[in-house]
Amino acid sequence: MKEIILIKNGEIALKGLNRSTFEDAMIKNIRRRMAHLGKVDAKKAQSTVTIEPKDEFFDMDAACDIVSKVFGVSAFCRACEIEKDMETIKKTAAEYLKNQLSFAKTFKVLAKRSDKKFPLTSPEICREVGGYLLSKYHNLSVDVIDPEVSVVIEVRDKFAYIHSAQTDGAGGIPTGTGGRAMLLISGGIDSPVAGYMMAKRGLELSAIHFASPPYTSERALEKVKDLLRQMTHYTGRIKLYTVCFTKIQEQIRDRVKEEYSTLVMRRFMMRIANKIAEKNGSLALITGESLGQVASQTLPSIQCTDAVSTLPTFRPLIGMDKEEIVAISRKIETFDISVQPFEDCCTVFTPKHPKTKPNLSDFEKVESVMDIEALVNEAVETVETEFVSAF
Ligand code: ATP
Ligand code: MG
Repeated sequence: MKEIILIKNGEIALKGLNRSTFEDAMIKNIRRRMAHLGKVDAKKAQSTVTIEPKDEFFDMDAACDIVSKVFGVSAFCRACEIEKDMETIKKTAAEYLKNQLSFAKTFKVLAKRSDKKFPLTSPEICREVGGYLLSKYHNLSVDVIDPEVSVVIEVRDKFAYIHSAQTDGAGGIPTGTGGRAMLLISGGIDSPVAGYMMAKRGLELSAIHFASPPYTSERALEKVKDLLRQMTHYTGRIKLYTVCFTKIQEQIRDRVKEEYSTLVMRRFMMRIANKIAEKNGSLALITGESLGQVASQTLPSIQCTDAVSTLPTFRPLIGMDKEEIVAISRKIETFDISVQPFEDCCTVFTPKHPKTKPNLSDFEKVESVMDIEALVNEAVETVETEFVSAF
């Protein structure tokens, strides 16, 4: 029996003339992430992609787990590919779904016939296969409303496919088809979720992290890499830029009024991220900010941080509550890493009473005590890079 993975692409199907480009990108992402499992053959036809293993000991469970995290996939299932012949279809349905059919009380058959030349109509296929399964499994009766097992028969151009209920995919648009963006990643809960959400809309991610050794430890940086590695199950590999932020933070601490320090720091982050993003072809920045979550995320504060940025900044969490963000971080399995207690450069230098309603006009004076351009250029020139990937 030849088992394959059938993949349905949802939103991609709406892409008209560009559809092929999106499908190809999705297939490329699947191939790349499955490379370690062995050879596969990937074909596309009629809003469906089939993944056929070409190695004898191919791990189908692992392959399905990978597919469940690839953006662009709206649903998928393991299926049996067979000749378009009613005898074969009936016998294979009984055999392929044996484990489920043997223990269920109710079932239904669902037929989809995209090959209109096939001699039987969909209701006729259902009746024939249903009758055959009833004759083989005396434990079963038909329930078309709420069956325990759905037996799906798809008759397509070249082959017929048999499977049971399909699993929801990750949805979204294939990563990389929307260009590249730079995620500002801390070690917290929010920024990995923000990155995941924008990758879901088709963006390829790079990431930038500001570290302040020796105030922040090597372990804090490792935590950021662990977060990124976990994200790459969804986003594909990510290039990380690590910026040494120590000198800037010390100057802020020593020269800037405490109540302004967080925002001055955030404005430095934005300036540096803009420069590095432009160099690496990123067309936008992404942050994990959520309106009103902390003093630096009030509307006046965000206006002050945005003012130094020329690239658009995507803040996909801006209207979300913490619980909603946590729910996504649990789903993508970054939560347990995020809550590990390692200091971030923001927390090390947190002022007691940060401004919540800053005036943009204040910053010219507040920041005049620092050589902004020299500090930014030095940070950009000394940035360290590496690729992070779980594959
Ligand atoms: P998070 O949970 O993502 O750390 P947060 O609620 O702690 O967010 P802030 O510390 O105010 O919020 O940071 C807001 C955003 O700024 C983060 O979501 C992230 O995008 C960016 N950011 C904060 N610290 C860093 C850092 N050390 N390096 C890179 N980006 C950072
Ligand atoms: Mg943080």
